[in-house]
Amino acid sequence: MQEVILLKLGELVLKGLNRQKFEERLKNELASRLKVCGPCAVESRQSTIYIVPQDESFDIARAEEICSKVFGVVALCRAAVCEKDVRAIGETATRYLRDELRTARTFKVEGKRSDKKFPLTSIETAIQVAGIVGEVYDHLEADMKHPDVTVHVEVRETAAYVHSAPRPGAGGLPCGINGRATIMISGGIDSPVAAWLMARRGLELHAVHFFSYPYTSDEAKEKVLTLLKIVAEWSGPIHLHIAPFTDIQEEIRDNCPEELFTVIMRRFMVRVAQRIAENNRSRALITGESMGQVASQTLDALVTTDDVATMPIFRPLIGLDKTDIVQFARRIGTFETSILPYEDCCTVFTPRHPILKPTVEMLEKAERKLNVAELTEASVRGAEHVLIRP
Ligand code: ATP
Ligand code: MG
Repeated sequence: MQEVILLKLGELVLKGLNRQKFEERLKNELASRLKVCGPCAVESRQSTIYIVPQDESFDIARAEEICSKVFGVVALCRAAVCEKDVRAIGETATRYLRDELRTARTFKVEGKRSDKKFPLTSIETAIQVAGIVGEVYDHLEADMKHPDVTVHVEVRETAAYVHSAPRPGAGGLPCGINGRATIMISGGIDSPVAAWLMARRGLELHAVHFFSYPYTSDEAKEKVLTLLKIVAEWSGPIHLHIAPFTDIQEEIRDNCPEELFTVIMRRFMVRVAQRIAENNRSRALITGESMGQVASQTLDALVTTDDVATMPIFRPLIGLDKTDIVQFARRIGTFETSILPYEDCCTVFTPRHPILKPTVEMLEKAERKLNVAELTEASVRGAEHVLIRP
């Protein structure tokens, strides 16, 4: 029995003139990611992309896993292909969904006819297929509201397809169609989720990580590499820039009031990250900040960090609770790595009583004791580049 994977496109189909371009991009992305599974054709017709194995060696189960992480796909159906004849469809369904139909108590057939030349309507197709399935599995009762199994039949242009419940796709828009942005990534729970959410909206990612040797360990750096590798399974390759932060932190420690340490440090992070972002032609920064989560994320503190920004800072988690963020982290697969206990440079010189209502004037005054431009440039120059592949 020939099998294919049908990928249903979401918002992409609303995209008017750009739709063709976006669909091509998505197909290229799929073709390149599916190379590891063996030979297949990637075709598109009627808001659906078809993954068609070209020989027996194609690993369709692995392909399904890979496709479930490709942005721009809202649902996936691994389906059996058959002739556009209602008896053939019914027989294919009884064989292809044998395991599910045997153990179910109730079932329903959902028909969909996009080939208007097919002689039966969607409902007639469903009724006739249900008749054939019900004859073979005579223990099954029909249930239109809450069936244990739904047999989906799609009569399309060149063939009919039979499958069980579609599996949810990653959603969003194809990688990179909205340009490029740079995520400021720590080893925590939040920033990998922020990266994923913005990649899902079609942004290609670069990343900046600050490390403070010898205050932070190699394990902390490794942890960031592991996190980005997991995000890259969804977003595609990520260029990581690892920027040294020790000199900046020591200068702040030695010259600025303790209660301002964190906010001044945040302003430096933005200055350096945006210089790196400009160099790689990113148009925005992304952070994992969430309103009020810690002292540096009060509204006043965020205003002072934005004050040094010359490009937009996207904060996709701003309105989420920690529990929501953790749910995303589990779905993406980053949670278990994020909770490993290594020091981040943010926790190195934490003030005992961080200021909750800093003002720009206060910070500018404190920063006059530092050579801001030179410290910023030195960190940008010292950044090491690593390409992270899924
Ligand atoms: P996370 O869970 O992502 O570490 P957090 O709640 O610990 O976030 P902070 O430590 O205040 O919050 O950091 C806020 C944001 O600043 C992070 O989400 C991330 O975008 C950025 N950031 C923090 N530390 C670093 C770092 N070492 N390198 C790059 N960016 C960082
Ligand atoms: Mg952190």
